[in-house]
Amino acid sequence: MEITLIVKNGSKVLSMDAFPNLFSPIKIGTMQAKNRIMMSAMSINFGVDERGRVTDQLSAYLAARARGGTGLILVGGGGVHPSGVELPNLPALWRDDCIPALARLAGKVRRHGALCGMQIMHGGRQSYHDHKVAPSAIPAPAVVKGTPKALTIAEIGDLTEAFAEAAGRCREGGLDFLEIHAAHGYLINQFLSPNANRRKDRYGGSFDNRIRFMIEILDAIRTRVGPDFPVGVRINGEDYIDNGWTVADARRLAPILEARGAAYLSVSAGVYGSRQLTIPSMYVEPGCFVHLAQAVKETVSIPVVSAGRIKDPQLAETLVAEGKADLVAMGRALLADPDLALKAKRGAADTIRPCIGCCLACIHAVLALEPGSCVVNPDVGREGLLDNAQTVRIPKRVLVVGGGPGGMAAARVAAMWGHQVTLCESQPALGGAARLAALPPGRGDIGAFIEFQERELTRLGVQVRLETHLSAELLKEEKPQTVIVATGSLTEAPLLKGLFTTPMQVVSAEEIIAGTEKAGRRVLVLGGDQIGLLTADFLADAGGEVVVLHRGRHFAEALSSNDRYYLRERLKQGQVALYKKATIQAVLDDGVRVTIDGNIETFNGFDTIVLADKRTSLRKALELLKDAEIDLHVVGDARSPRTLQFAISEAEEAARAV
Ligand code: SF4
Repeated sequence: MEITLIVKNGSKVLSMDAFPNLFSPIKIGTMQAKNRIMMSAMSINFGVDERGRVTDQLSAYLAARARGGTGLILVGGGGVHPSGVELPNLPALWRDDCIPALARLAGKVRRHGALCGMQIMHGGRQSYHDHKVAPSAIPAPAVVKGTPKALTIAEIGDLTEAFAEAAGRCREGGLDFLEIHAAHGYLINQFLSPNANRRKDRYGGSFDNRIRFMIEILDAIRTRVGPDFPVGVRINGEDYIDNGWTVADARRLAPILEARGAAYLSVSAGVYGSRQLTIPSMYVEPGCFVHLAQAVKETVSIPVVSAGRIKDPQLAETLVAEGKADLVAMGRALLADPDLALKAKRGAADTIRPCIGCCLACIHAVLALEPGSCVVNPDVGREGLLDNAQTVRIPKRVLVVGGGPGGMAAARVAAMWGHQVTLCESQPALGGAARLAALPPGRGDIGAFIEFQERELTRLGVQVRLETHLSAELLKEEKPQTVIVATGSLTEAPLLKGLFTTPMQVVSAEEIIAGTEKAGRRVLVLGGDQIGLLTADFLADAGGEVVVLHRGRHFAEALSSNDRYYLRERLKQGQVALYKKATIQAVLDDGVRVTIDGNIETFNGFDTIVLADKRTSLRKALELLKDAEIDLHVVGDARSPRTLQFAISEAEEAARAV
């Protein structure tokens, strides 16, 4: 294998020869994919009309990933029956009028050399609405509420037929392939898993009975679409739930599916509420389900797809090269950067915008029935609306004040559009709050994103001036026509009785994480939002005894539920005590007096208080600019303290408006 090192703008990149296995073609049934990257079927919850027909929005979103070099594009959440709709805005395949839109979608994806497939599914007890059906009347363990109705034998037959009919419509619409969703706790997986299937008839009990629904669906689809149309199946390698489907079951089922004509198997894991989540956050190692794909691959000769936080082309290359899987499924990685495949192929992997594994805009949002997006890529879902010509007729001088993630995003986009950009940052390094947010245990993916932004600024020729405050001299020197203020926010010291007289050490969360202050052994953290919990984890990881007192009713609401789940597990391990609905009455010499849910309690024996509650915008720069006749934008926390998603999307909007 030849690897060529190229140096571009000071950054090292590997030539395309670094990924020869990933970019080798593969035959899947009767079709040939140009490479081994399959876009996972993501239920993105946008891009359909009121009848569930695919719109230009969904086509443009998927076509962008095809244009970016992805070998196979899989449309997510294709519903086969109204009783199994997972989310309100997913493709509906139970009426013939879906076919013309599928044909338009397929055309737009195939134009870029990618294959276009549809994942067909029934949500069963994990459907979002309140007329759910399932093999047995057992509620889903998490996320959705309500007890489903147990299907009758006749209804099982109807749904089998619905799968076949939907498959036929996909073929008529000109799609290249299909994937049957039999994983993640949806209806077919519910039949497979003893956890959800307590039936006493021929669809429940023994292994052969539990797989019957799956097999009948595959047979019915094969009959409907013919032997030549590629039909894959997504299965769980593990449910990661008590009395669930296991890897031994998956290895037993896989050869049966192959024998009945499955073109490929895609191996994933987890159900709603499982111990290991289907969509793991940044706390989980990339490639977390590869061992399951490998175990299944040992039992079949058809291609096997591996999923689970595979976002790095090098990891993808390695697992294909080592024979652990034949293809990789990438979902969030392609939301974050639709051009991932092209960039990897042309040897520019370090220009790939990395998914940070926050699960916020892509997973948490859609589970809240909102349209999906991406924290680091606000263009998701707007691909057909944005003018990405990236040239301006008259370049302007743009000054960005603040080098956190918002400031860097603004500088990057302004420079991409051809403006002459200077970024000034008061600290000796870029990254702002995100640099600190990357330091607690398990948050390193945020740091990788900051490093990407830094490389981009270098690549795009942005002039970065560190340890530089906005000043009259700087304005005179730079003569900006536009200023984008992205100076962020800081923890606010609350007005608490005794806070300024207590002998305890009083520090901010930022000071602790940055290492400019050291906490004692017993620490009270005031504030249980994201920064409070991350600081508590940071302190507990270093051996501290930590108590978190939170005013609100819920902890870390700004985190996605997936991310919060892993953080809460860590806090449990670190024996961090969490109290919510806690109002501080007074700060004492070695603790606090507090009202918790109406009861007064005292916490004593502490040596440090960490402030991690309210934040205040840093807007000093605006004073200098208020009388200047300059096009002015204020973005992110400088406008109002919120999340990384707001910081980046507002910054990019401002840069596009220059
Ligand atoms: Fe990745 Fe977060 Fe974007 Fe989802 S929202 S794709 S997890 S960066």
